[in-house]
Amino acid sequence: MTDPFFASLNPEPRILRADLEDTIAAIATPLGSGGLGVVRVSGPGAFSVGDKVFRSTTPLSEVPSHTLCRGILRQGDEVLDDAVAAVFRAPRSYTGEDVVEFSCHGSPLLLRRVQAACLQSGARLAEPGEFTKRAFLNGKMDLAQAEAVAALIACRSEESRRWALDQLRGSLSALLESLRKRLLNLLARLEASLDFVDDEVPDLSRNELSSAIGSLEKETESLLATAPRGRLFRDGVRAVLAGRPNVGKSSLFNSLLDADRAIVTETAGTTRDTLEESFLADGLPVTLTDTAGLREGREPIETEGIARARRALIASDVVVWVMDASDPLTEEDRRALAWGDKPAIIVFNKSDLADPGIDRMAIEHRARQSLSHPRGCVFVSARTGEGMDGLRRALADTASPAGGRETGEGPTLLIERHVALLREAADALAAARQASHSGEPDECVALDLRRALDALDRVTGRGVSDEVLDEIFSQFCIGK
Ligand code: GDP
Repeated sequence: MTDPFFASLNPEPRILRADLEDTIAAIATPLGSGGLGVVRVSGPGAFSVGDKVFRSTTPLSEVPSHTLCRGILRQGDEVLDDAVAAVFRAPRSYTGEDVVEFSCHGSPLLLRRVQAACLQSGARLAEPGEFTKRAFLNGKMDLAQAEAVAALIACRSEESRRWALDQLRGSLSALLESLRKRLLNLLARLEASLDFVDDEVPDLSRNELSSAIGSLEKETESLLATAPRGRLFRDGVRAVLAGRPNVGKSSLFNSLLDADRAIVTETAGTTRDTLEESFLADGLPVTLTDTAGLREGREPIETEGIARARRALIASDVVVWVMDASDPLTEEDRRALAWGDKPAIIVFNKSDLADPGIDRMAIEHRARQSLSHPRGCVFVSARTGEGMDGLRRALADTASPAGGRETGEGPTLLIERHVALLREAADALAAARQASHSGEPDECVALDLRRALDALDRVTGRGVSDEVLDEIFSQFCIGK
């Protein structure tokens, strides 16, 4: 087969790099005090390092795989800790290499000493993401799965946890593999018709070809359509509390976060800085900013607070306009509501103080008229908690793009690199379908199909350059 379109249809396994000969070690848990902390060692010398730093009844190099050993961690003659060592023998380990994991008491100082002891005994410090990179290089997982490890570690919502775990367990890889097989099959049949022009092989009819490409394109597009949902639950949204002073923004901030973070006083204009905290609103990660009230500043420090509030408004995805339900809509409220054109919720706070006879519908109607993009409108009391669940729901609904909260079947894209590559694949498939439809030669259709195949392959890591790999894994932390 000499045709360049069909070269490298079966990529070679990635050639193992020389640096896999090193044994690496690093602290794998965050550097804070905790019940446990873990130091991980991986590579051909893992057990020799382990035997130098750990003493138990049987040397680690002699125990079977998947054994836990109780013993003593040492640096030279000094005892560092009572610890447990978990032994995994290649290839049945996270990295596919010999691995020892020391579970110690979780003191940052102690963990650094254990790491130093491992380095003294022949390991070198792992680079960021190097354990997971080795798992990829040793064929334990493909690149999409390796990236899912980072997504799982960073997840901020139940949805992104579930989607990252599914991806780690191979859901995206399996889908891409099935698209790849069908693409390869089309390419092989096109190739057959190129090689056997004399009708020895039944021709793939153009209709058949266009419709097969069309269905691959459609499936790639529907995978791409999950990206906004993935982004939403991965990054969350930025919401900002705005409104005139003293309507209860700081009280709502504390109530939404379930914490006494913002200072609440009866004197108007006391929130002069912006405060920022994250919480889950109906499962959606929200970074909430409390701002100084929006009014003309009376002293320089308040004016600065108002300037910061405006900057926070500009940077936000959703504005929560807070009004005082016990104090009818003022001219100042109306001016504030007219600001900008962001998706917004109107919150009438202090419902506990409002006259029970007030016409909520009429107040709501008047406020909505002042907003260019009104969404939810809720009455709440930061003091009694009335309506707070409704506010959380309204916040999540307002922040979600249309259909953003629907959970469909199959994997959800969580990683921007995948989104960009699948966009390339879908565009190449669209071009191939066009070429096929307009009767262009098989070689032209095949060229576009090859582009689609290359893009799909780069998601799972086939044919990805070392530079790209280094770039991807350098974004991990040390110890991952
Ligand atoms: P901000 O200036 O908009 O941040 O308002 P604050 O949160 O500092 O609240 C101003 C005053 O209103 C404080 O005395 C709060 O205790 C009071 N306040 C806030 N929310 C409520 C509420 O829902 N009901 C009642 N009765 N008082 C509230």
